[in-house]
Amino acid sequence: MIPGSPMQRVPAAAHNAASSIHVAHSLANALDALSEWGSAGAVFAGGTWIMRSPIRHEPLREHYVAIGRIAELGAVRIGTDVVEIGPVVTHAALAAALADLPEFNVLAAAAGRSANPAIRAMATIGGNLATPGFAAADCVPALLCLDAEIEVAGREGRERMKLEHFLQIRSTLAPGRLVTQIVVPRSERKTAHARLPLRKAGDYPVAIVSFSVSVDAAGRVQAARIAVGSVEPVARRWERLEAALIGRQLDAEGAARTATELAEEFVGRDGVDAPAWYRVSVLPSLVRRAAAAALGA
Ligand SMILES: Cc1cc2nc3c(=O)[nH]c(=O)nc-3n(C[C@H](O)[C@H](O)[C@H](O)COP(=O)(O)OP(=O)(O)OC[C@H]3O[C@@H](n4cnc5c(N)ncnc54)[C@H](O)[C@@H]3O)c2cc1C
Repeated sequence: MIPGSPMQRVPAAAHNAASSIHVAHSLANALDALSEWGSAGAVFAGGTWIMRSPIRHEPLREHYVAIGRIAELGAVRIGTDVVEIGPVVTHAALAAALADLPEFNVLAAAAGRSANPAIRAMATIGGNLATPGFAAADCVPALLCLDAEIEVAGREGRERMKLEHFLQIRSTLAPGRLVTQIVVPRSERKTAHARLPLRKAGDYPVAIVSFSVSVDAAGRVQAARIAVGSVEPVARRWERLEAALIGRQLDAEGAARTATELAEEFVGRDGVDAPAWYRVSVLPSLVRRAAAAALGA
């Protein structure tokens, strides 16, 4: 029994099932449940990754703590300096909330074009960031290029870290800790998200380029953050390409040519959807698309 109700315990369904799902109505209650169950428990957000565990031949956890009804984790707050995003905000809700903020085009597109409408109505931004084995997550490179920070909480308190650091530690996040907020700074920038799915809606992208630049009055690049997803096991910034663009007039063809020269630094991952070499080979054209879209923004 979990201390500190309100709570609801729903017996989970039969085959290969978790033995319980605890529906938390407050963050404190979720933290209590998670820390009581330790490594036998895990967060259940949209459930779109967890529900496919059998397909990936992964065992389910014994206990899940559903966090989708915790009001404080479900808001998008648009401030003057930062945008704060609760982890249970769905992809669809996030895309809608950011629709009128051009500086966030990259994240609105990542959230608004991933998967298909049914999944976008369920899958959460926190689940997208917190799933260790998910290389093709759209929101991860988008948030890397926006310089996002992640707040992680446990019963002992909260801490804030760069998304890069969170990606390094997420697979070893201690039981009882969860993502409670994503904080994205606001600034004048042009951003875009380019992804390559092999077939129509529903497929994971084989490669992703998320692009953010600030340009001066003459169109020269003052600052650049470019992130690549789905090519390697974990999304990361393309710092050599960023550095090569600084001080130059931004043009999509030039950026793609530079990307061709630098793409060999990526060690692609083989997958059933695409071989490693293919993921790397499409990067220059994704850079071209992203730069053109950012210029048009
Ligand atoms: C057919 C299909 C196609 C898809 N295509 C895409 C796509 O193209 N691009 C894309 O980005 N996504 C896509 N998705 C969604 C993606 O694969 C994941 O399912 C989704 O990102 C997981 O989010 P969730 O809220 O459902 O997480 P859940 O399934 O609830 O949880 C996933 C993992 O994250 C952990 N977790 C969840 N929230 C937190 C938190 N706040 N703190 C700590 N840990 C947490 C859980 O414990 C679990 O380990 C697709 C999904 C499907 C089913």
